[in-house]
Amino acid sequence: MLVRVAVAAAVRGTYTYSVPAALEPTVGLGRRVAVPFGRSRRATGYVVGFAEAPPEGVELRDIAAVLDAFPLFTPDLLDLIGWAESYYLTPPGELYRAALPPGLNARAGADAPRRRGVEYAAPTSEAAAALPALGRRARGQHAVLEYLLARGRIPLEELRAAFPSGRAALSALCQKGLARVDAETPLPGGLLPEAASAPPEPSPEQARALAELAGALEARAFAPFLLHGVTGSGKTEVYLRTIELALRQGRGALVLVPEIALTPQLAGRFRARFAGAVALLHSGLSDRERHAEWLRLRRGEARICVGVRSAVFAPVQDLAVLVVDEEHDPSFKQEEGPAYQARDLAVVRAKQAGAVCVLGSATPSLESIENARRGRYRLLELRNRVDDRPLPSVEIVDLGALRRGGLAVGEGLLSPPLAAALAETTARGQQAILFLNRRGFQTLVVCEACGREERCPSCSVSLTYHRRRGVLLCHYCGRVERITAACPTCGGPRRGVGVGTEQVEAAVRDLVPSARVARLDRDAVGSVGDVAGVLARFANREVDVLVGTQMVTKGHDFPGVTLVGVILADTALALPDFRAAERTFQLLTQVAGRAGRGSEAGRVLIQTWNPTSPAIACAVLHDYAGFAEAELASRRALQWPPFTRLLAVRVEGDGPGARACAEALAEAARPALSSGGALAMLGPAPAALERLRGRSRWHLLFSGNGPEPLRRVHHLLAPVVRRPPGGATVRFDVDPYSML
Ligand code: ADP
Ligand code: ZN
Repeated sequence: MLVRVAVAAAVRGTYTYSVPAALEPTVGLGRRVAVPFGRSRRATGYVVGFAEAPPEGVELRDIAAVLDAFPLFTPDLLDLIGWAESYYLTPPGELYRAALPPGLNARAGADAPRRRGVEYAAPTSEAAAALPALGRRARGQHAVLEYLLARGRIPLEELRAAFPSGRAALSALCQKGLARVDAETPLPGGLLPEAASAPPEPSPEQARALAELAGALEARAFAPFLLHGVTGSGKTEVYLRTIELALRQGRGALVLVPEIALTPQLAGRFRARFAGAVALLHSGLSDRERHAEWLRLRRGEARICVGVRSAVFAPVQDLAVLVVDEEHDPSFKQEEGPAYQARDLAVVRAKQAGAVCVLGSATPSLESIENARRGRYRLLELRNRVDDRPLPSVEIVDLGALRRGGLAVGEGLLSPPLAAALAETTARGQQAILFLNRRGFQTLVVCEACGREERCPSCSVSLTYHRRRGVLLCHYCGRVERITAACPTCGGPRRGVGVGTEQVEAAVRDLVPSARVARLDRDAVGSVGDVAGVLARFANREVDVLVGTQMVTKGHDFPGVTLVGVILADTALALPDFRAAERTFQLLTQVAGRAGRGSEAGRVLIQTWNPTSPAIACAVLHDYAGFAEAELASRRALQWPPFTRLLAVRVEGDGPGARACAEALAEAARPALSSGGALAMLGPAPAALERLRGRSRWHLLFSGNGPEPLRRVHHLLAPVVRRPPGGATVRFDVDPYSML
C-alpha cells in the first residue's frame, strides 16, 4: 500500500511512502503519521491520499508509525486544505499544522480529555464590598473580580477569553468567598438548550433577512450572502437565529470573529443562547482547553464553533451555515506562516459543503460588495438601527480652517469644538471615546539646532517618544532607547512632533481634571486580561473617557457612549497602500458606530486636514454606497483589486543579497509578462518599509487578471526560490493586505 503524505515542513507538494503490512489496518485518510524525511528520522506527516505507483526514480521509504486512532481531518477538510494549498501557493504541511489546535500538534495520538459541562463564574454577594480592599496587592484578582461584577454570571470560557492567565486569580477569589464557579451538565449533541434570556423579537428588516436565510437553509445548497447592516442594526441577532434554524435541522455552524479578546461580550451572547452546543477556539484558551474544544466539535458534541481566523479549519460536523462577522476586518488575513484569508476560505468551505455563508459588516470590503454587485453574493441589508435609534450625527472639524482662522491647533490635539463637546459630555455624566491610530506621546523627536531625527538603526522608521516610560521606542522591532534632554550630536534642544494616544490621554486629564480617563492601546494594556479589565470598567461606567487606538473601534456595545472624537482622521490616508482610503472609511464608520447605541443620541467629531477626501466626506454622511461606488471606479481605473488579483513576492536579506535575489526573480518572471496584458509586474523595488529588524526588504508585485497567470509566474519563480541568490529568503503572499 502506498500513501501520499503532506510533511509538516516548508516544502511544496506531497511525498509518497509505502505502508508496512502491520500498519495497513490503522493507516487512513486524514490521520497523522511519522515518516523519515530528509535527515529527520521521524517527521510528522498527514495522509492526504493513496497512490498506485511510486513517482519515477524515487526510492520508497516506509512510514514509521500511525499517530492517530481516528482521522483528524475529515474529507471535507482535506478538500479545503487542498484548495488553499494550490490557491495560496503554500506548503501543505504548514496548512495542516495551522489547522490543528496547538495542544493537538504537540501530542502524539489524539486522546480525549474528559467531557465537561459548561461552567459559569459569578461574583458572590460579598464581592462588591471587598473589591476596594483587593486593590494594590492583588492586581490580577482585582481585575478579574471587577470584570465579574460588571458582567454578572458568565460562562467560564468568556472569562478565559478575557483573562488568559486569570486562572490562579479566579481560584484565589473562590477561596476568599468572593466568586464561585458552578457547572451545567452537558446536553446530548444537537439538543437545543433553553435560552438563558428571551431573545428579542426580530425587527421587520431582520425578519426579512432571516426569511431569505431560512429559505437557503431549507434548500441545503451553497448560498453566499453579504449582510450589510449599519452599526447597531442587530446583525448578531440575525446570525443567532440562522444558527438556531441550522441546529433544528440537526446540522452545525461555524462563526468567525476578528478578535475574541476585544469583544468578549460576543462569545458570551452565543453561550447565552446555545450553552454547551458552542465550542470556542481562540488563543485565550490554554492548549489543553483548545484541544478539548476541538475534540467536542470533531465528535459532534458541540455543533457550533465560534472562533478566530484559524477556526475556519475547525472540524464542525455537518456544516449548514458559516458566518464571518466584521468580514472587512484585516485580522482575517494570516500574515505569518501560511498566508491565507480566512474570510475567503470560509466562502470556499461553504461552497464545498453546500452550506449557507453569511459575511456580515457595516462596512463591507470592496471585494465583497463587488461580488454582491456581480450577483455572486446575495445582498441583505439592515438600513436602520434597532428600536429606531438614529445613527449618530457626524461633524467635521476642519483643522486647516481653524489654523487659517489664527488658532494654534496644536497639531490637532483637542480642537476647541472637540474640547467643548468633551467637557459637556462628561458634565452630563455620559461617556466618550477618543480614537487615534498612533501609540506613544510624540511620533517623532527632532533637534531644533541641527535637525537630527531619532530613527531606528535597524528599521527605516522614526522612533516614537513614550513619556511615561521615558524612552524612545521602535514600533516595528521593539528597540528601546533612553531619551536624553539634549541632542546627542550637538547638545541642542529637542522638540517632539506628532500626537500619540499617550498625549491625548494627558490632554484630556488637563482639560477635564474630574473625568476618569483610561487608555486602550498596546502600551497601556500589556495582556489580553488588561484589555478586558479596561473594557469592563468602561462598560460599568467607572471610566468616563476611553482613549485608544483601533482597539476602541471594534464592535463594542456601550450604551453610555454619546460622544466619539477622532483626533486625526488622516493617519491611515497617507499610507502607500491602495486600501488606504477603504481602511480610513471603515475605521471612521466603525468608531462612529460606537456612539448613541443607548437611549441618548450620539455625536461624532472628526478632526482632519483633508475634509474633502472621499473617505472622510462619505463617513460623515454615513454614505457607504457613495464611497464604494467612487472607490470601485478608481480601483477599476487603476487596475487594483477587486478588478485584478495580486501576488506579492517578499524578499529579505542583507542589502546586496536581497537586491540580487529580487532581480533574479524579476528576470525569471519575464517570460510570463508578454502574455497580452494578463500579467503585470511592479518592481522589483525596495519595500516602503525598506529595512526591518536590520534586514533589507525588496518586493515584487504581480497583478493578474485571475489566479491562473499568478500560478504561472509562481511556477517560473520556483527554481530561484529553491536556491535564492545572496542567501535571501523569499515569501509568497497571494491577495496581500500589507503593502509595506
Ligand atoms: P450590530 O452587530 O449590527 O452592530 P448588535 O447585534 O450588537 O448590532 O445589536 C445591537 C443591540 O441591539 C444589542 O444589544 C442587541 O441585543 C439589540 N437587538 C438586536 N436585535 C434587536 C431587536 N430585534 N429588538 C431589540 N433589540 C435588539
Ligand atoms: Zn526598529
